[in-house]
Amino acid sequence: MKHCPMHTLGRALRNALSATALAACSDNLVQPDASISDTGGDNLASPDAAQMATDSNADDDGSTTPDDIASSEDAPTTDADTASEARPSNLRTTADVRWALHGGRLVSGRMTFAVSTRFAPGSNARSHIVEAAAWYTDPAADVGLTVVEAPPMSVAELFPSEAPTVARMDYLDTRAADYGGFPCHRQPDDVSCGSWVMNMCPFWSSGDWGGGGTNPRQSFVISANAGCYGHASDATSGDYPKSHGVAHELGHGFGMIHTPDWPEADRGLLSTMQGRMPILTAYDLAFLRRKYPALDAPEVVDVAASPVSRLTMGSGYDNCPFGDFDGAPGMVADEVYVADGALLDCATGEPPKVAVTWFNLGTDPVPGLAVAFRMRRSSGGQPAILDAWTTAPMPRESQDHWAGPLVVPPDLLAAVPVDVPLRLEFAVDTGDGLEESDEDNNSVTAQMTVVASRAACRPRSGTRPCATLVP
Ligand SMILES: [Zn+2]
Repeated sequence: MKHCPMHTLGRALRNALSATALAACSDNLVQPDASISDTGGDNLASPDAAQMATDSNADDDGSTTPDDIASSEDAPTTDADTASEARPSNLRTTADVRWALHGGRLVSGRMTFAVSTRFAPGSNARSHIVEAAAWYTDPAADVGLTVVEAPPMSVAELFPSEAPTVARMDYLDTRAADYGGFPCHRQPDDVSCGSWVMNMCPFWSSGDWGGGGTNPRQSFVISANAGCYGHASDATSGDYPKSHGVAHELGHGFGMIHTPDWPEADRGLLSTMQGRMPILTAYDLAFLRRKYPALDAPEVVDVAASPVSRLTMGSGYDNCPFGDFDGAPGMVADEVYVADGALLDCATGEPPKVAVTWFNLGTDPVPGLAVAFRMRRSSGGQPAILDAWTTAPMPRESQDHWAGPLVVPPDLLAAVPVDVPLRLEFAVDTGDGLEESDEDNNSVTAQMTVVASRAACRPRSGTRPCATLVP
């Protein structure tokens, strides 16, 4: 790839440069690769039951829902002046990903997405679907979902023999008489949710639904198993497919495959394909930009603090939510205390360990990002900055993460109030150097309480799977 020095310039300066010069550089940033025409690597006609079970469980876990990250109502205030020395970088870039082994694609990334009125317009269930669909509108990729209304449909209507012209989403009742015609999961009468909860069923260019078709796919149907969601039979129920689950299925629709099906070397990257991601990650956007390259794509410089860190866990990886504390030794505690001028974890008596991941979602490298841990009263007010530093330069579509003890200098600790509900925040920002199109995802938050002494720590039990993180 040709190096384009303009990518390191500030947005304002680049805007002042000629459009022609920028276009010459932009061409490189969205160069298609050989995987556009690949015909293999897609075995997602029937996502496996284990993954579906994970998808379902994720719905019960409110800790990483968009509501949590939306609670950071203030724009990050971090700037370079508050940053201390750099931390070791664990940069992972998508530049070397073998995209041909990461799934297929649709004929066109611009789809009409017909959503059943069983997800009623104006309802929360509909909002989650609309939100997830909006994540797939990326200015640097030729993708986009236009959500329209559709009446509830039978299996025959959802999966017609002729090529469908739109993508769809509806509940599917496994007890209905025509369930045997469902081309993706034929287990009879599955109301136990053991084999599937949500499913993406593709229609291939070879004219087939389900497995065994020939790439590229022309369209897809996302089905939610009516037996697995209370909302399917009670419109007032809050048990409906959530945005992160819908986004996962949409990822399948666009051609993505589960992380365990990726080449080994790529599995450390975060993706909606691992589940539980209330945001599209650097990897996810890179996938869309490689598989659906946009001509004349704008240069986009967005950064994001991830609500999830993907950590080495034993021989594999696991996603650990920021704020998934609850007494897990090794992860940041939800309850801490102050002793001898230090902030300590009630669970361990040591400085609380934290794990954070941040992204460059852009097509541009970011010269350096300022990141910070902050704490503030849940009721609002100015944050106390606990720790801040400037990270390594981020290549385009990359992620970095850091894990370690949160050691708070005594003078900063003095600003942290005791015995009131607090929010621990992790924020990432480009400061004033670059203008972003979206600042809404630049911080993540978690509840935390500081008690007066270790004697005041409340007893707790149990641990979480993210207890043994490896940076
Ligand atoms: Zn899946």
